[in-house]
Amino acid sequence: MTDCLFCKIIKRELPSEIVYEDDDVLAFRDIKPQAPVHVLIIPKRHIASLDDLTKEDENAMGRAMLVASKLARDLGISEGYRVVTNCGKDAGQSVFHIHMHLLGGRSLGWPPG
Ligand code: AMP
Repeated sequence: MTDCLFCKIIKRELPSEIVYEDDDVLAFRDIKPQAPVHVLIIPKRHIASLDDLTKEDENAMGRAMLVASKLARDLGISEGYRVVTNCGKDAGQSVFHIHMHLLGGRSLGWPPG
């Protein structure tokens, strides 16, 4: 999608600190980290939100979850981390290309705000 921020990151039209890439999934550091490790994991196919997923996204989203656990190990936070997807404005979603936040490296409170 031409005016999507994360599609531009996928196409290298915007800079980012990429930490993982394969044919279907990209992961890069959040520009405004909320924890010592804060990575965004996205499918390369443009999907606006969790509410827009279809059966065809099953493999990429499953892969994205595996990438989260791999990155948690690689980035040294496997003792405790959180994977979060905000869906919709009321949940705080601000970029409408589905993404999983991988957060760790500090104690994480619960419930989230
Ligand atoms: P959300 O509010 O759940 O939609 O998350 C969007 C996330 O994207 C926020 O944590 C932002 O800090 C992050 N973000 C926005 N622009 C960029 C960018 N250019 N590079 C990396 N992360 C970004």
